[in-house]
Amino acid sequence: MPPTQSSASGLPLRDQPATEPASTPHRDRRPPPASTLILGLETSCDETAAAVVEGGRRLRSNIVASQFHLHAPYGGVVPEVAARHHLEVILQVIDTALAEAGVGWRQLDAVAVTAGPGLAGALLVGVNTAKALAYAHDLPLLGVNHLEAHLYANWIEVAAREYRVPELPALGLIVSGGHTDLVLMRDHGVYERLGRTRDDAAGEAFDKVGRLLGLGFPGGPAVERAARGQGRGGLRFPRAWLRGSDDFSFSGLKTAVLQSVRDDAGAPPVPAVAAAFQASVVDVLSKKAADAARREGVRSLLLSGGVAANGPLREALAARSPVPLFAPPPLLCTDNGAMIAACACYRFDDLRAGWDLDPQPGMKMT
Ligand code: ADP
Ligand code: MG
Repeated sequence: MPPTQSSASGLPLRDQPATEPASTPHRDRRPPPASTLILGLETSCDETAAAVVEGGRRLRSNIVASQFHLHAPYGGVVPEVAARHHLEVILQVIDTALAEAGVGWRQLDAVAVTAGPGLAGALLVGVNTAKALAYAHDLPLLGVNHLEAHLYANWIEVAAREYRVPELPALGLIVSGGHTDLVLMRDHGVYERLGRTRDDAAGEAFDKVGRLLGLGFPGGPAVERAARGQGRGGLRFPRAWLRGSDDFSFSGLKTAVLQSVRDDAGAPPVPAVAAAFQASVVDVLSKKAADAARREGVRSLLLSGGVAANGPLREALAARSPVPLFAPPPLLCTDNGAMIAACACYRFDDLRAGWDLDPQPGMKMT
């Protein structure tokens, strides 16, 4: 589009390429210049997050304002409440991220934002804020796929942790509140989805079981805490192996948990139910991911998404994986802006967006 044309919003459009699908493969990519400074914004669900990452790896700041206390009374995320709260805090979160990084607008090289998937109203706040700020400060705008970004949390260097760059091809296990995907990452931007959940996502199952057991929201950390150090008291819940497929299913497990706690004759104690439920999820996720890694001959296994914070899952995968396991520190497992900035740095040219960038609630990775 010529630089002088106007967009529907009346803003003049600059000379930027139109938005491309996030998964456009480019094989002749350059390594990220070590000094590229990107501000990453994330508002796809119930975290308002901003971070500054240098060279796709060095974490200069990482601010996450979680809204979980606002949604806890409802036992799940209320989309309208999420969008309103993003709007209230996003500028403050960005200011804090820049101040903590000691970076001014003039030093930044780009603004990157989650374009999807996620809640439409919530995404809209991040995308419109990123557009306005990038436009005002004359910076490139990059639209990032949230799921792809979860994988890039494994590229971020964290103080006091030994740093290794994941070798490709890699197998990604993305386990979050909304997704459970097994993805083959052949190269940066080149993905093949091998499997997905056929019903509930792993995090969703943790959240539902947490609610069922009266442990509060979000259920993942609460179930892990309740199960810690507990035996299963002889309880064993089913595992949906779906043999011959890389897909997952957790709804049968959820029903089995429900039936066990409804057993008036002798409902088992909550810690034992939590431990047995967690053992079932961990067993299926770790075995299927390890098997797929072996079969596909990958060089790394990348765990990511909120459920990747789960200690027993990390231990089981580390024990079963035939290749080095990468798992981000817990704060980079759940939604954050750093993973958005890191992904944008590695995929800078592919993810350049125009001022007509729109949120894509159903955005796919492959
Ligand atoms: P989204 O789906 O919005 O991208 P996140 O990637 O932030 O969400 O992941 C949130 C999910 O992760 C929630 O379902 C939460 O219960 C789950 N989760 C967070 N910590 C843990 C944990 N320690 N164990 C299991 N699940 C967890
Ligand atoms: Mg997420």
